[in-house]
Amino acid sequence: MAYFATVFRLWYKTEIKKMKLIQTINELRAELDVLRREGKTIGLVPTMGALHAGHASLVKRAVAENDVVVVSDFVNPTQFNDKNDLLKYPRTLDADCKLLEACGAAFVFAPSVEEIYPEPDTRQFSYAPLDTVMEGKYRPGHFNGVCQIVSKLFMYVQPDKAYFGEKDYQQIAVIRAMVADLKLPVNICPCPVIREESGLARSSRNTLLTEDERHIAANIYRVLKNSLPYAERHSVEETTQNVIEQINGIDGLEVEYYQIVDGNTLQPIANWTDADSVVGCITVYCGHRPIRLIDHIRYKG
Ligand code: AMP
Repeated sequence: MAYFATVFRLWYKTEIKKMKLIQTINELRAELDVLRREGKTIGLVPTMGALHAGHASLVKRAVAENDVVVVSDFVNPTQFNDKNDLLKYPRTLDADCKLLEACGAAFVFAPSVEEIYPEPDTRQFSYAPLDTVMEGKYRPGHFNGVCQIVSKLFMYVQPDKAYFGEKDYQQIAVIRAMVADLKLPVNICPCPVIREESGLARSSRNTLLTEDERHIAANIYRVLKNSLPYAERHSVEETTQNVIEQINGIDGLEVEYYQIVDGNTLQPIANWTDADSVVGCITVYCGHRPIRLIDHIRYKG
C-alpha cells in the first residue's frame, strides 16, 4: 500500500510539474482561474520566442518568485513597423518549449495572430515624451504595438508580477507608464541584461548574424564600456560623438542613434550633472542584411 502511495505521489508531482502548451485565451483563463482561486501567485514573462539565456534568466527568476509562471511566446505583428523584420523574425516553438520546461514554467501561451487580433486593434497608447524618443522615434508605432499586446496579456493572465529585461531599457519605462495609466495591479520586475561571453547582449536576432558578424557586433558593448572612463574626462556631447565615431569606424557596423539620457525620463541630457541616473542607449545596424541590434550602458545611478 505504502509502495503505491509513493508511486502515486511521484507520478502526481511529475504530472503537475509538466509544462502545458496553451493556444487559446479561454483555455489559459480556465487554467489560471483555478490556480488563482487556490491562492497561487502568478508570474508572467512576455516573449516573442526564439528563446535564449536572456529569456531563461527572466523565467528562472519568475519561477523563484511565484507559484505559477506563464510565458507567452508570440511574435506580435503590431509592434513591427518594418514588415520585412517581422517576416525574418526567428520562430522556434519546439526548442522554446524544451527550454521553458527545463526552467520550470507551468504554461507557455503560444496563440495564433487571429486569436489575439480577431479584429485590428485600434487602441492608441501614447506616453510622450517617454515613447517618442529613441526607439519610439526610429520605430514609429512600435511602443503602441508593445502596449497593445502587453495590455492584452495582462488582462488574460492577471499576473501578480511581470518580468521584463533591461535589454529593452526604454520598453520598461513605457510599460511602467502604461501600468500607472491603467492602474493595473501588477508589479513590474526589471531583470539585468544577459550577455554572450564576448559582451554582445543576447538577442533572438543574434541568430540571424553570421559568425563573422557576431564577432563584429561584440564591438558595440566594447565601445560602450570603454566610454565609461572616457566620460569621466569629457562632456556628454564629446562622449556621444566618440561612441558614434568609434562604432561607425568598424566595418559592418552603422549606428542608427546613440543618445545619453536621463535614465528615468529618457530625455537627452546636456551635462552629466543634469540627472541622478544617466544611461546611454544605442541602436546599431550590423552586417549585410542588416540586423538591427540594441544595447545600453549606465554612466550613473
Ligand atoms: P523578446 O522576445 O525579444 O521580446 O524579449 C522578451 C523579454 O526578454 C523582454 O523583456 C526582453 O527585454 C527580455 N530579454 C531579451 N534579451 C535579453 C537579454 N539578453 N537579457 C535580459 N533580458 C532579455
